[in-house]
Amino acid sequence: MNRSPYRNPFSSASLDRRHVERKDDEWLDAALDDPDTRFIALRELQPLVRSAPESGICFLQANDPLIRNRKPADLLLMGWFGGRRTVLAEADEHDEAPAGSHFEELRPLLASLPTDEAALLYAARALLFWRTRHRHCGACGAPTAPRSAGHALRCVNPDCSANFFPRIDPAVIVLVSDGPYALLGRQASWPQGRYSALAGFVEVGESLEDAVTREVFEETGIQVHESHYFASQPWPFPSSLMLGFHASGSRGPVSLDGELEDARWFHADELRQPTVTLPLPHTIARQLIEEWLQGATHSRKAP
Ligand SMILES: [Zn+2]
Repeated sequence: MNRSPYRNPFSSASLDRRHVERKDDEWLDAALDDPDTRFIALRELQPLVRSAPESGICFLQANDPLIRNRKPADLLLMGWFGGRRTVLAEADEHDEAPAGSHFEELRPLLASLPTDEAALLYAARALLFWRTRHRHCGACGAPTAPRSAGHALRCVNPDCSANFFPRIDPAVIVLVSDGPYALLGRQASWPQGRYSALAGFVEVGESLEDAVTREVFEETGIQVHESHYFASQPWPFPSSLMLGFHASGSRGPVSLDGELEDARWFHADELRQPTVTLPLPHTIARQLIEEWLQGATHSRKAP
């Protein structure tokens, strides 16, 4: 089996999650007692970052006012990052950033943050987004309360006690090719000239391969013959997991369904020209295209 050597830069392999530690009801006391514990903070999903000299997480200590003022429910155990216990604090709109730091939208920071720190913030943002959407039980409407050091929520109504776990929305992202040609599309909202691999959410009852075939056909009218998995990338805007595929399809006329502003076949040489703007380097879409351009996969033929 062909295994891609690619590992996306925002996988959180640098975070040691230590699930067992989440089961300890005293986890927060242990964290506060440990002088090595570091805290990260997000306010309205924006991470606290250093203002200078370069982009990076602003780690806090337990005695920082931003941390001291938190209720236990505002604190989540992320795991061990860089070998140190790391706790996520959910700040509120009244909290001020400590001197030398500020809260900032994560997405524009991705190109400048160290990739392991970006991965940690990816996970933190996704967790807090999920919590903000599950403050009440979907079954009975009672409030929910955190469990497992913030990695689960449980309905407080003893007659219900439904459990909720972080939601992840799988989406396929696929580069369809036919010999030296690849099928790329663009959305109307993107910067002029940018084209990317096709993408869409997986629907209930579908395999990933089903979703690849359906999405490509719906968006472009092109039939996929074969697809194979490339790699995955967490994408917490708000809670996706992008599942990358290479696929083969026959180069024929494209028919748009209205979701894309344009989609067409590009020759590999065309994609190396400055007239086409490819996705940003840290995205799995770009990695799919780059790998294909290097000829690593397009020699695979349909059966
Ligand atoms: Zn309930």
